[in-house]
Amino acid sequence: MAAPADPAPRTPVRAYVGLGANVGDARRTLVAAVHALAALPGARLVAVSRLYVTRPVGVADQPEFHNAVVALDVPAGPDPERGALALLVALKGIERAFGRQRRGRWGPRELDLDLLLFGDARISVERPPDGVSLDAGHRDRLLVVPHPDANDRLFVLAPLADLAPDLVPAGWDEAVAMARDRRLVAEGPGAVQVVGEWDGEGWRV
Ligand code: ATP
Ligand code: CA
Ligand code: CA
Repeated sequence: MAAPADPAPRTPVRAYVGLGANVGDARRTLVAAVHALAALPGARLVAVSRLYVTRPVGVADQPEFHNAVVALDVPAGPDPERGALALLVALKGIERAFGRQRRGRWGPRELDLDLLLFGDARISVERPPDGVSLDAGHRDRLLVVPHPDANDRLFVLAPLADLAPDLVPAGWDEAVAMARDRRLVAEGPGAVQVVGEWDGEGWRV
């Protein structure tokens, strides 16, 4: 008897991932992180924002950050929660591979990968399913998508607006470019600075 045909592959989901680093050679780390994201099983790298140098938010007394955003098409999973959780687990694996040390929220870090958007899903997952291991701590907000602070952070909105200016994320009442312009007024033009344009390999000045 012939083997059953593969089930029809489900349409992938367009996810947006925010990248940040401010320990070590941040630019180099982010280049390598983009390539690691592109190499995730089942993922396709769709676009990479410009690279930004940004003023630290929250804990001000630390080196400036480099930030960017990528658009990735990833497997949808059986449902948005599990699809997004699988991507979060993969992001945490990349952070660990890049030597992320645990120093607490908003502090300095080798690499931070945040899941900003997962298609048009709104997700709030409290605890990992059996067999899914993530960093300890923050278990109260294991995964929230859209990322709850994305609409308030110029260092996220500026690169996200490079890729999806007209997108209105789930639960937002404005498009990404509108939110960016609003935060640009609030934080001032000095808060973020473009330092490179992606050319397929890295960011060129
Ligand atoms: P912030 O989330 O405010 O940007 P942070 O990036 O400094 O803070 P981390 O210490 O990197 O915070 O992450 C803490 C935990 O946040 C993660 O282990 C993860 O379980 C949880 N989390 C919840 N929602 C998300 C999301 N959308 N993307 C990434 N992590 C998330
Ligand atoms: Ca973050
Ligand atoms: Ca994070």
